[in-house]
Amino acid sequence: MTTRKHFEEKGRFQMDISMKVGAEKQPFKVLKPPKKAVVFMQQHIGKCNVPTVKKGDKVLTGQKVGDAEGKMTVPVHSSITGVVEYIKKEYHPVLNCPDTAVIIRQEVEEELMPLPPFELKDRNEIIELTREAGIVGMGGAAFPTHVKLASKGVDTFVVNAKESDPNLVCDVRLMLEKPKEVVKGIQLMAKALGARRTIFATRTQEGELPELEKIMKYQGIEVKRVRPSYSVGSEKLLVKELLGKEVPSGKFPLDIGVVVNNVSTAYALYRAAYLNEPVISRGMSFYSDRNGIENVWFRSGTRVEDVIAGLSYDIRKFDRLIIGSLMMGWSIPSPRIPLLKYSAGLTALSPEYSRPYDKQLPCIRCGYCDSVCPVDIYPSLIMKADKEDNTKALRKLHVEDCIECGLCSYVCPSHIRITKLLWSGKKKSKSVE
Ligand code: SF4
Ligand code: SF4
Repeated sequence: MTTRKHFEEKGRFQMDISMKVGAEKQPFKVLKPPKKAVVFMQQHIGKCNVPTVKKGDKVLTGQKVGDAEGKMTVPVHSSITGVVEYIKKEYHPVLNCPDTAVIIRQEVEEELMPLPPFELKDRNEIIELTREAGIVGMGGAAFPTHVKLASKGVDTFVVNAKESDPNLVCDVRLMLEKPKEVVKGIQLMAKALGARRTIFATRTQEGELPELEKIMKYQGIEVKRVRPSYSVGSEKLLVKELLGKEVPSGKFPLDIGVVVNNVSTAYALYRAAYLNEPVISRGMSFYSDRNGIENVWFRSGTRVEDVIAGLSYDIRKFDRLIIGSLMMGWSIPSPRIPLLKYSAGLTALSPEYSRPYDKQLPCIRCGYCDSVCPVDIYPSLIMKADKEDNTKALRKLHVEDCIECGLCSYVCPSHIRITKLLWSGKKKSKSVE
């Protein structure tokens, strides 16, 4: 990291990604289904589900265990076959507080409850299947995918395969392992959206995904290479990079005729349509500073301690656990917290790994955080407004446009964890809407 680079690369930060070079060559290690699965009711943006099962019920793998009425709802499913042991509040890794979960104990041999059959003749059936399968944005946003697919007036559909986090490679691994399946999922999404163009946005170089690109060319999907700059994987920035069009503040890509879906989301739709399987498992990257990156296929609701034991590591060797990537992940207070159905990464750090935020100093008004922000807001001013509880200023400074990329904290010479203050600022700004 050099300060010179911040100014040269405003909005296009060149991060050290050496830790992921070559890691895409490692196949997914498939973990055994856990002995216990924790299925949270809230695993998407929108209204929370309510349990559709009760304590003592027998449930099959893929069976719906939570659902709710309304447009912004997506059901959740059991990832194992067993018995509902409890319905109680457990610590939620993203909400950062206890929330309702169905806890299932594995009891009998695995039995899959397939999704009801869908013929997929028209867009409505694809949209309905997407909801029933519990598909949400698998890149980490967890936005209900069926809501996106129901959009009208879409000109361009962008498949986001950018994966710009420095320690995640699971999307690229998926594209190498399942090229035909990924394309089938993309085609279903394109059919539902009725878009004029489908663009596949990737950071990979020509020849790195030979099979996938061959099939895409044959199917008329445009492959566009985007620079491997950090945070360009965020929807609005990706649209700007690809199409040269700005998504206005407070608006969505759809407001300019674009829908963006992650490549792993397309693969989840393939599994629903061709294997009748809801979202009960996914691929992710496990990174530890001692051992680098491994690609792992896990059942959703697996506790972090079971993932680490399944990879034959001694959890006592790790000091900090983060669900997600080094830049955008959330530290968790206990290894008993489970991964969610859209968790793309798990990061485990040893005691030797640096703890920059332990040595926080006062702000020296250097402005590096402002200069590096890819969405052109002013984190230093937002931080001040948050401390003063000035909600009017927070809204004026467009705190809601922050994509939580973590760059401002990363470059701060005073080691201020600015992103934490931005989350708080967002909450305060929303509370007066
Ligand atoms: S976390 Fe938010 S404010 Fe900070 S650099 Fe990223 S987008 Fe800008
Ligand atoms: S918060 Fe950090 S990076 Fe931003 S102006 Fe202050 S010292 Fe500089």
